[in-house]
Amino acid sequence: MIPYGRQQIDQADIDAVVATLQSDWLTQGPAIARFERAIAEHCEARHAVAVCNATAALHIACLALDLGPGELLWTTPNTFVASANCGRYCGADVDFVDIDPRTWNMCPQQLARKLEAAALAGRLPKIVVPVAFSGQSCDMARIRELSRQYGFYVIEDASHAVGASYRGRPVGCGDYADMTIFSFHPVKIITTGEGGLILTNRDDLAERLARLRSHGITRDAALMQGESDGPWYYQQLELGYNYRMTDIQAALGYSQWQRLETFLARRRALAARYDVLLTDLPLQLPHRQADAESAWHLYVVRVQGGLDHRKVFDALRMAGIGVNLHYIPVHTQPYYQSLGFKQGDYPEAERYYAEAISLPMYAALQDGEQDQVVAALRQAIAA
Ligand SMILES: *Cc1c(COP(=O)(O)O)cnc(C)c1O
Repeated sequence: MIPYGRQQIDQADIDAVVATLQSDWLTQGPAIARFERAIAEHCEARHAVAVCNATAALHIACLALDLGPGELLWTTPNTFVASANCGRYCGADVDFVDIDPRTWNMCPQQLARKLEAAALAGRLPKIVVPVAFSGQSCDMARIRELSRQYGFYVIEDASHAVGASYRGRPVGCGDYADMTIFSFHPVKIITTGEGGLILTNRDDLAERLARLRSHGITRDAALMQGESDGPWYYQQLELGYNYRMTDIQAALGYSQWQRLETFLARRRALAARYDVLLTDLPLQLPHRQADAESAWHLYVVRVQGGLDHRKVFDALRMAGIGVNLHYIPVHTQPYYQSLGFKQGDYPEAERYYAEAISLPMYAALQDGEQDQVVAALRQAIAA
């Protein structure tokens, strides 16, 4: 089976993990700080805060902005459930903005229209979470403009977009978002096994995030109420969590990070090859924005021309191609239906879901394997 995504681990990664196992630190220590610094520098952001996964990153990003009950978070239905769940963890209400049928990202026109109506109704969102679907940025300049106009915060879920760029600057630089989230799950661009990270240029948010990932505790006497009792002393200032990444994971992540450009170049090459090899088939191929360089986490095609989506999908799986479908519209999940969302609420995301197939895309995928995928797809369509 050729999977849709997988990690690439080399001897340097293994050596880095073993070296950490033999060191004095296993949980959060010097490897975390080094990993955070490397990513912050590359992304031209002031701060990076590493955590145990991107879901935890989204959660404490919302908490750092004091999201709470009665308030609203908006995201896209074409995402992994975590982009919405982070709002629910804080007791806030979640709502969705439908996608652009071409980019498959949150539609900026729909966002503008929904904001206009929300302003009239007095129910504006506190946070909007645009998701850089498949690794390509949303129209972040427009979203930033709207955030200034309507006063909401932007948490960019760039779980797919590690190493991507937008308008000539790295995703995560903070030009268009208050915080940017990366995921290091094994199918993503680089991996730490499980892992996530938050980038921000705001000192206050970075300090708060670092505290929230570790029980809400500080050891900094300057931040304590009253005097410190002594060198052993810490204070819990608010309710936090244990969302720390281990040094073992960060050592793996740092080692992977050294090959970021290699990984991205391979993904770009595979995407370019798919574009050429699939050009004559009745498929909608990924749209390429002129102002964004995708990290190509996913390569999604939409079957067209009256093709039976399910038949094509099943034929590929039967042929040993581990295709997948990203994403089941979040609002159609039973949990979100129990909150009042229904089928038909976001028609573009639902139409997309009825046609989309994620083809294998990962740095270790060989040309010959990709040719096998294309041949199987051709056959599935011809059948
Ligand atoms: C993978 C992913 C997440 C969650 O990442 P974890 O690190 O697995 O918690 C969140 N949002 C999106 C868009 C993702 O693809």
